[in-house]
Amino acid sequence: MAAPQLNCDVLVIGGGAAGIAAAVAAGRTGAKTILLERYGFLGGLATTAQVGTICGLYLRDTAGAEATPVSGGFAQEFASRLQQVGGTKPLCVDRGLWVLPYSPPDFARVADAVVGETKNVQLVLHATVAETRAENSKIISVRALAWNEPVEIFPQAIVDSTGEATAAALAGANSENGATDQAPALVFVLENIDPGLAQRGLLEVRRELRRAVESGTLPAVCERLALVPGTGTNGRLALKLSLLPANPDCALWQQVTNWERESRALLAPLHRFLVENVAAFRNARLDSIAPQLGVRSGRRILGRARLADEAVLKVQKFPQGIARGCWPMERWGNSPRPEMNYFAERDFYDIPLDCLRPVELKNVFVAGRCLSAETGAMTSARVIGTALATGWAAGTAAAFQAAGKSSDEAVTTIREHLSGQT
Ligand SMILES: Cc1cc2nc3c(=O)[nH]c(=O)nc-3n(C[C@H](O)[C@H](O)[C@H](O)COP(=O)(O)OP(=O)(O)OC[C@H]3O[C@@H](n4cnc5c(N)ncnc54)[C@H](O)[C@@H]3O)c2cc1C
Repeated sequence: MAAPQLNCDVLVIGGGAAGIAAAVAAGRTGAKTILLERYGFLGGLATTAQVGTICGLYLRDTAGAEATPVSGGFAQEFASRLQQVGGTKPLCVDRGLWVLPYSPPDFARVADAVVGETKNVQLVLHATVAETRAENSKIISVRALAWNEPVEIFPQAIVDSTGEATAAALAGANSENGATDQAPALVFVLENIDPGLAQRGLLEVRRELRRAVESGTLPAVCERLALVPGTGTNGRLALKLSLLPANPDCALWQQVTNWERESRALLAPLHRFLVENVAAFRNARLDSIAPQLGVRSGRRILGRARLADEAVLKVQKFPQGIARGCWPMERWGNSPRPEMNYFAERDFYDIPLDCLRPVELKNVFVAGRCLSAETGAMTSARVIGTALATGWAAGTAAAFQAAGKSSDEAVTTIREHLSGQT
């Protein structure tokens, strides 16, 4: 089948939080931009896995009565749009941690609006990239199937925001597999729940689940149930069931298939158990299941710089810093609850631009959860607020490169944007 050929300045691959920000950033500089997304809607894990809260927008603050933004810029603009559309507001969940709860359809709607309003951005949905061609350390063309028709794109610069560093890896960039670092989770919604449960938390539920696991009524993984903050007050409670991190001996595509099937198979017995044993769930009905399992970490590049765990914990700043991380390290490993590792309150760390740049490729920037980071650092930098920020930076840097401008100029512009000057 002959493939239509498209040219652009910046090609953004993947329309999750990072890709949305990257496409808008590139488009606003005047770059001719194409955004490819393999599903029929934008948002990535924020909408497909329905994670339900945006972390990484506000500084941790155990004393403050209000949320303080970690920076200015696009992440806050996107958050404000979500607040207008959904009437949501920042919520303090634990130990001074502020999040913005959102409904996944609102997230997709705001993403559609923001991308649609941006001049110079062509969005192609149902477009999956499967092939790249590289010459002289540059990706010169990318092939995708768009609604099952081949398309070939010739970009000047690329943002890989696939969450799996797919384009960079296809073009030969070195990467590492983060799927063994963290557990995935399936989000589902139960309705007709006692609205008081959200306030009380899952303590009573966990006690019953422990008994069920100890008696062999439910598999051990059911103890890993957590609630999505900000849900439940209207009787609709979103819950996430975490599985176990990937088995390193299993191919990731096979592992993900197994996870998807295993987690969905657990929902019926778990739901039945809750209805029969926990008063708050007596009338609970299964309302919906997220369209995709939430894979917390996957493939990421080994970049020109690597965000170190220590840099996060010591809230290091860098002259090349292009995004600010403020969420603690939150690792969902083998234990039922996440391991949290906090750094100084009311402070943030910088992510240098070189963490977004593969060593081997000159015209590729990555963003979101495929940036170059040590394991602990990634458990912080992957959150949606930070993904929006690294996406913005990658889109700006790619557009500047396509226009023949230096990366130093890009860094200056991005830093002004973060400090609210543009
Ligand atoms: C269970 C779970 C709970 C979480 N909870 C929270 C939370 O409460 N708050 C928070 O802030 N963060 C949370 N996170 C983390 C956060 O959701 C993600 O790290 C973040 O959304 C990643 O954004 P991204 O844009 O980097 O990647 P993704 O959201 O993964 O987006 C990648 C996009 O690329 C597309 N894509 C992939 N491959 C291709 C291809 N070959 N061609 C075209 N398109 C492609 C995908 O369809 C997707 O839309 C959670 C994650 C999980 C899994």
